[in-house]
Amino acid sequence: MGSETTSIDVIKTQIPIETQSLSITGDVNTGLVLVDLVNGFCTVGSGPMAPSAPDAQISGMVDESVRLSRLFCKKNWPVFAFLDSHHPDKPEPPYPPHCIVGTPDAELIPALQWLENESNVTLRRKDCIDGILGSFEKDGSNVFVDWVKTNQIKVVLVVGICTDVCVLDFVCSTLSARNRGLLPPLEDVIVYSRGCATYDLPVSISRNIKGALPHPQELMHHIGLYMASGRGAKVVSEVSFGLDEEQ
Ligand SMILES: [Zn+2]
Repeated sequence: MGSETTSIDVIKTQIPIETQSLSITGDVNTGLVLVDLVNGFCTVGSGPMAPSAPDAQISGMVDESVRLSRLFCKKNWPVFAFLDSHHPDKPEPPYPPHCIVGTPDAELIPALQWLENESNVTLRRKDCIDGILGSFEKDGSNVFVDWVKTNQIKVVLVVGICTDVCVLDFVCSTLSARNRGLLPPLEDVIVYSRGCATYDLPVSISRNIKGALPHPQELMHHIGLYMASGRGAKVVSEVSFGLDEEQ
């Protein structure tokens, strides 16, 4: 354990992340994107992709996501929530069956179920990792692209799970789409580090599971943020709302 911690520190020195603080004032149209805050990823015991025991990184991510959601809804600012949801006959390898439609695993966590009744919130079920790809309708329109345009969003603030999987792919696709001019007037994609989390599968456990890749939580969370940063996202470690927060 001691040596694992030391190696993470070495990696963090080799690939450091420049973090900033974000103060949201309302002067710039900002949209909050919640990635997969569903039971199947966040609630202890809710299927194979959920934590098997209370997890500090995931709990912290949930707390921050709830805090930001409350403030955005209080201000009536736009919120877009992805819900990973799969039909049982459409697997998503290499992952085991998870977040099956019609089960609680594919529903918002209890602390965020109230979002379903908020008029400023767009909910989108997706059956793939990449949220932009998962937002296409059969007629070729895209729910996420339309959300950015309709709300004239210049900054997207991203939280959720997993930092290095669905959050990262969403960030990469959004930045590519922005760079191609497909997401006007979007300018910045901001990832909130304490509002993100990933799952934990230490090598000591994965080596006993056939075909499993190790996925040490703290390291993969860091790498996810680093990759997002490398693609052009801004990473922030604090998000504040000025004086409004306490009201
Ligand atoms: Zn999935």
